[in-house]
Amino acid sequence: MIQLFLPLNFLGFVYREIRRALTDLENMLGLLNKKPQITDALNAKQLNISQGEITFKNVSFSYDAHRPILNNLSFSVKAGSKVAIVGASGAGKSSLARLLYRFYNVNAGEISIDNQAINSVTLNSLRKAIAIVPQDTVLFNTTIRENIAYGRPSASDAEIDRAIAMAHLKDFITTLDKGDRTLVGERGLKVSGGEKQRIAIARAILKKSPILIFDEATSALDSHSEQAILAAMREVASNHTSIVIAHRLSTITDADTIIVLKAGQIIEQGKHDELLTLAGEYARMWELQHKNK
Ligand code: ADP
Ligand code: MG
Repeated sequence: MIQLFLPLNFLGFVYREIRRALTDLENMLGLLNKKPQITDALNAKQLNISQGEITFKNVSFSYDAHRPILNNLSFSVKAGSKVAIVGASGAGKSSLARLLYRFYNVNAGEISIDNQAINSVTLNSLRKAIAIVPQDTVLFNTTIRENIAYGRPSASDAEIDRAIAMAHLKDFITTLDKGDRTLVGERGLKVSGGEKQRIAIARAILKKSPILIFDEATSALDSHSEQAILAAMREVASNHTSIVIAHRLSTITDADTIIVLKAGQIIEQGKHDELLTLAGEYARMWELQHKNK
């Protein structure tokens, strides 16, 4: 009786855990009530990353037929370089990141990484190659540490500790009785937007992917923490290809290329100084953010 009871009870536990993990994942991907047709092509290959160069070629996209979101976008991110995407909210910046991670398929055109179209490679190999710090991070109902470890389940304790330190989470964690074993998520400790962002950054650091996407990843931080995190991000991003979506322009002045997106189109592109000289949209946004300062 006892012998039977234990395994069944254990199975029940495993079942609940799996179901919870799936719900967390669906929530994170925002896929509830949606039916995305994102699957591997029949003869999908492994993405083979040599350099980490990203190319968008004549990409158009809409969530529903009557409202175009991205309109014939073409640009490339050279291997190891940092491209910033800026523009008003609603311009299509996050959509562009979601397409690269293949949460959605493009309607026209092609996105490729090292000359391999992303819809011709396995989703698994694609998503392994990209670490994304999203605008709104969803935390799983587990400990802070496990939330970070999720970035790369095979990571060692020392690597997790290092990611925690690099994302400047140590001070926050030491204020908690249970430290990084504190439960977070819906059923755990309520963490602030900035703390959530730092957990997401630690997760991305741990993942060690050749491509990094930061989607307004420091928007909820005060400017002191933001500077510290930006420095950490720069360290992580060196030798990586990175796309940084930013609201505060002061955080991306060092980008190799800045792309200004407006209503789903690229209207300006260049380095910070070049765009200021151009005296167009970017210069106007810069002016707006820096007057009275
Ligand atoms: P940004 O990140 O530049 O603020 P987004 O890419 O999030 O812009 O959004 C671009 C446009 O797409 C917005 O008008 C937004 O309302 C719309 N949009 C974003 N996500 C969805 C969605 N899941 N379904 C339908 N429309 C969406
Ligand atoms: Mg956005």
